[in-house]
Amino acid sequence: MNIVLFGPPGAGKGTQSALLSKHYNLHHVSTGDLLRNAMKANTSLGIEAKKFVDKGALVPDSVVTGLIKEELQKGIGVGMLLDGFPRNPSQAQALDELLNAEGKNVDQAIFLEVDKSELLNRLTGRRVCSSCGATYHVKLKPTKTEGRCDLCGEKVVQRPDDQESVISNRLEVYDQSTSPLKEYFSKQGKFVAVKGSGDPKDVFRAICSAVDSR
Ligand code: AMP
Repeated sequence: MNIVLFGPPGAGKGTQSALLSKHYNLHHVSTGDLLRNAMKANTSLGIEAKKFVDKGALVPDSVVTGLIKEELQKGIGVGMLLDGFPRNPSQAQALDELLNAEGKNVDQAIFLEVDKSELLNRLTGRRVCSSCGATYHVKLKPTKTEGRCDLCGEKVVQRPDDQESVISNRLEVYDQSTSPLKEYFSKQGKFVAVKGSGDPKDVFRAICSAVDSR
């Protein structure tokens, strides 16, 4: 089973993908995480990607599709949970081609629906551990010790692209580039919208019921 999870920035893709990949035993691929790891390691791909990520722009399709090709080898046997990829219809087409070449396809594309005001609240308050990547929120899920990760004790920071000046650009990029995926997957009969606001456990249950009844 191959599942695409998509939605605007701050919709909860990372949180839900972690739960879903564990529950369904799928290989979790987050292009955002792969790019951030490359940026942290200062690889040539990371240095190139940083120019786009820090501005809230999309990294060129050829770069992310290359990353997906590598992950496909790891996930093709067990199935994949794609988080943040595809981000536009041409990436979706590239994904279809890659999967079809292996005799597979996307089984379901789940869209996480969250109001813009809630997205802004989530993104501006989001903090992440600089070491293990655990996520927090200054008001909704604060760390036990100020500025330190509950899990590993390392420093908790704000992602550069979660700064208010960048967030508006990310939301605009989403509206223009990613939102058309709804139509792309609807035409294929694979689109399901799930309400992404409220308790993450309830959102998780709603996604599972959509997956189980597909
Ligand atoms: P995310 O963690 O999914 O919010 O992604 C963070 C940033 O990484 C995005 O704002 C983009 O700059 C970049 N990115 C992640 N996935 C993709 C993708 N599929 N295509 C292009 N850029 C991406």
